[in-house]
Amino acid sequence: MALKGKVALVTGSTSGIGLGIARALAAEGAAIMMNGFGPSDAIAKLRDDLAAEFGVKVAYNGADISKPDQITAMVAATESELGSLDILVNNAGIQYVADLVDFPPERWDAIIAINLSGAFHAMRAAIPGMKKRGWGRVINIASAHGLVASPQKAAYVAAKHGLVGLTKVAAIETANNGITVNAICPGWVLTPLVQKQIDDRAKEKGIKVEDEIAGFVSETQPMHQFSTPEEIGALTVFLCSDGAKTMTGAPFSIDGGWVAH
Ligand code: NAD
Repeated sequence: MALKGKVALVTGSTSGIGLGIARALAAEGAAIMMNGFGPSDAIAKLRDDLAAEFGVKVAYNGADISKPDQITAMVAATESELGSLDILVNNAGIQYVADLVDFPPERWDAIIAINLSGAFHAMRAAIPGMKKRGWGRVINIASAHGLVASPQKAAYVAAKHGLVGLTKVAAIETANNGITVNAICPGWVLTPLVQKQIDDRAKEKGIKVEDEIAGFVSETQPMHQFSTPEEIGALTVFLCSDGAKTMTGAPFSIDGGWVAH
């Protein structure tokens, strides 16, 4: 229970990687502010299950991460409802796949707003409290696409490269305040965000989803295996630990060797 007494806000924690991170932090005793979209009864169940399984306080805030004022209000709500905000995980993200020349400008704007600007607004609101308390951990969920590019992902690659840069600036500015700021760069994790890409590609090629999955990971990763939300959660917990207190401003790959190419 290394994180007992700490409060963590995990954006986009109603699904996939964010949920895996929220579970891993709760397992270490942190109180959790959940965020993300979904049917209200399903979110209420996730929240109750998390609280019951790990014996921690769990709250929920439905802030839309594309809306700066809602992010600021969610940070304030975390501090007032749970008493602090010690760990901020900027995880909410979306994807859209198209050639740059066909990329709809409104999809570009939405991806930049959620995958990049959301993290800026959340850090801007959360870091002053961390500084006052003399302890903080910020983990930005970037991507292998924060370090290398693929075709048809102009907005996503730009946002994730931006997020890695933003992480470095925040880390330098908070280096002597007991705060670390790092980025996690996952390769493929089989979540709804990736399942949609696999389904679309299988449809386009006229092949079965199982056959598309077989080639999907090995196209970019030397290790032919998805990472899991639990593994991303475990790395997040490590970055919050005392053992990681001098690790800051770095992108940590967890990608089956993708960017080692
Ligand atoms: P997911 O679709 O399973 O989950 C995304 C979460 O973000 C959901 O909880 C969703 O409700 C929330 N969300 C989306 N838009 C939001 C908004 N406007 N406001 C608030 N919440 C919003 O996706 P995932 O694969 O778990 O992705 C999580 C993060 O991990 C993303 O930033 C993604 O870019 C990154 N990532 C994913 C992979 C992968 O292979 N799945 C790889 C690298 C990085």
